[in-house]
Formats: sequence, structure tokens, C-alpha cells
Amino acid sequence: MEIPGHSPIPKALFWARKALEDDSFPLRDNVTLILSAMENEVKNHCANCRKEAGCSSLKRCVRCLGAWYCGKECQVQHWKAGHKIDCIKRK
Ligand SMILES: [Zn+2]
Ligand SMILES: [Zn+2]
Repeated sequence: MEIPGHSPIPKALFWARKALEDDSFPLRDNVTLILSAMENEVKNHCANCRKEAGCSSLKRCVRCLGAWYCGKECQVQHWKAGHKIDCIKRK
């Protein structure tokens, strides 16, 4: 489902977080639920090798906070494979 360069996840997380910055956003509760569900789903697996996090926590992409990795090497590989297109820099 996740193809580097065509992954909806960093963008979805980005827009959900952005919506939550607006206190008057009408569907805050829904967005909060969706955001935490999405984060729980993706943060347990390395975005590159799909290895499960297990007890050690994964490092996440500091630019978009939307991808998790088991190590530096996987992050670099995934970046080159297409995450550089998916990655959205936070303000
Ligand atoms: Zn990995
Ligand atoms: Zn990123």
C-alpha cells in the first residue's frame, strides 16, 4: 500500500496536524482520532524495511514527523526511494 514517492501518509498526517492547530476547526475530535489511529498504525513499523518496532522505538523523520525508521540506513534508503517526494516540511 505504501509506495515511496506515492505515500499518502506523511501528507495525511501533515494536514491532520494542521487542522488541529486551528482551535475552531469543527471536526477536531474526529481529526484527533484519525490522527492517533494513523500514527499508531505507521509508527510500529519501519517505513523502509517494514520491520516491527517491538520494544525498541523507531526514529521518526524530523522533517515531516510522518515516517518511522528502525535506523539511519533505512531512513536514507527510504529517502532516496521516494520519501523525499512525500516528505512535507513542517513550518
Ligand atoms: Zn528498517
Ligand atoms: Zn519525512
